[in-house]
Amino acid sequence: MNDAQWAALDDYYSEELVRQDAVLAAALADSEAAGLPGHHVAPNQGKFLNLLARIHGARRILEIGTLGGYSAIWLARALPADGRLVTLEFEPRHVEVAAANIRRAGLADQVEMLPGAAADTLRRLIAQGEAPFDFIFIDADKPNNPLYLELALQLSRPGTVIVGDNVARGGAVADASSADPAVQGIRRFIELMGEHPRLSATAMQTVGAKGYDGFALAVVER
Ligand code: SAM
Repeated sequence: MNDAQWAALDDYYSEELVRQDAVLAAALADSEAAGLPGHHVAPNQGKFLNLLARIHGARRILEIGTLGGYSAIWLARALPADGRLVTLEFEPRHVEVAAANIRRAGLADQVEMLPGAAADTLRRLIAQGEAPFDFIFIDADKPNNPLYLELALQLSRPGTVIVGDNVARGGAVADASSADPAVQGIRRFIELMGEHPRLSATAMQTVGAKGYDGFALAVVER
């Protein structure tokens, strides 16, 4: 198998099962036109997140790393009418593009975007006594993943689902001696998930339009 075959099969799944609508396609097109990096999840991964949140019955979702709002739209569409998604983004340009995409998706009332460094925002939410989230998607700067996990746990309840993206990085995460801070951040994140007394976790490798990567999935036990 090669990258082209992985991408072709992703296209097939997306055509048959995902059928991304015009709003999602426009979110990607406008993100690209605005020069945002193409680091969003693939359509079949967005639908996967949407299904996970729906299966879980999530009413309150936290996302760390908005980019152009693509995964935020998928996740917010999983919410009931009175549900809420809070998404955190550092880059002002990304905030601007995401806000427009979320507005066009008709989700502005349900999605709150909090600009700024995610760690600061998370600490502020904790200090303010923010109610726990049902579902947390961690997808920002990978060196900070261990910190995000610790802070996310303070915004969790027993049963909260935590998903972390990009945990394979082309297989580089298997290299304990890697000098890449993103690889080391993911390795510590995986170790923390494995050793944390409040978490039960696993991780899956994936291939597809986004190359060879993976995601980690955990549930808060207590
Ligand atoms: N979840 C998005 C999606 O699938 O559509 C993709 C998010 S992209 C992988 C990561 C995002 O995290 C970027 O927009 C980047 O600007 C943002 N980011 C990086 N460092 C951050 C930080 N310290 N605080 C908040 N956001 C940050």
